[in-house]
Amino acid sequence: MTIKNVTVAGSGVLGSQIAFQTAFKGFNVTVYDINEDAINAAKERIKGLRHSYRHDIAATDADFEAGLSRISYTWDLADAVKNADLVIEAIPERLDIKKPFYNKIGEMAPKEAIFTSNSSTLVPSALMEDTGRPSQFLNMHFANQVWLNNTAEIMGSPKTDPKIYDEIVEFARNIGMIPIQLKKEQPGYILNSLLIPLLSAGEELWVKGVADPEMIDKTWMAATGAPMGPFAILDVVGIRTAYNITATQAKSGEDPNAQVLADKLKELLDAGKLGMESSEGFYHY
Ligand code: NAD
Repeated sequence: MTIKNVTVAGSGVLGSQIAFQTAFKGFNVTVYDINEDAINAAKERIKGLRHSYRHDIAATDADFEAGLSRISYTWDLADAVKNADLVIEAIPERLDIKKPFYNKIGEMAPKEAIFTSNSSTLVPSALMEDTGRPSQFLNMHFANQVWLNNTAEIMGSPKTDPKIYDEIVEFARNIGMIPIQLKKEQPGYILNSLLIPLLSAGEELWVKGVADPEMIDKTWMAATGAPMGPFAILDVVGIRTAYNITATQAKSGEDPNAQVLADKLKELLDAGKLGMESSEGFYHY
């Protein structure tokens, strides 16, 4: 099947970016969200990408407008998926929202349509039976700022048809992504499987008082040639996210260092140091 019509479901942070990038690369895109307010917010969010496309990848106004002209919007789900060759799902990371969503579109979408999920934490096996078409379902996981951080991690379940997998690899390339092909299911995909242990190890060295964040980052950068160390990366991720994850770990009581780390991160938050978004975290920007 040739993919022409793409429906992006969920038009929040990631969905709006995926929708625009797909339209920018020439596909017809239908954006679906739950109600008129959410759709109005999506329109603003998508229009708001103009500066980034111009500044980061030198897109012309004409190209940006052409992208916008290929997008239509609806909060009627049956309407949203009726002509879809591909549905890219980017709705909240909750099983109680994703499962009923797939039950519905499994009934409503054309039977050849492929479904992909942008889920960060769920492997496709967790949702495949809800789609009613497990062989045509897989994960395609984008990174925030898709026009710049252009990776798409592609991960099938044991039931995904290899031909469908290849089609999605091709599609990812066609929308300007570098397809990162996983051969089997892996929670956290490749990127987070590498990144989270690095960030945790950096945090542990800090909490134990072995070295300060600057020294830890400097070691990693000087010794490996990496442009950033774990604490500079945490500033990009955001201190709030780092705190939320650590606070959850602290509550479980499994790791005695988690509470110390949570307290240290809370001090930064209380001082308004949220990371790059507030121009200060571990570093000044
Ligand atoms: P978000 O909260 O910004 O957006 C979610 C959108 O889904 C909202 O517009 C909301 O109105 C809509 N929505 C809620 N219920 C819905 C339903 N039943 N049907 C359709 N739409 C519904 O979330 P996000 O950060 O864009 O994350 C969405 C997905 O992308 C999650 O699975 C997340 O794991 C994944 N993801 C997020 C990031 C990130 O950096 N934010 C990165 C990679 C992957």
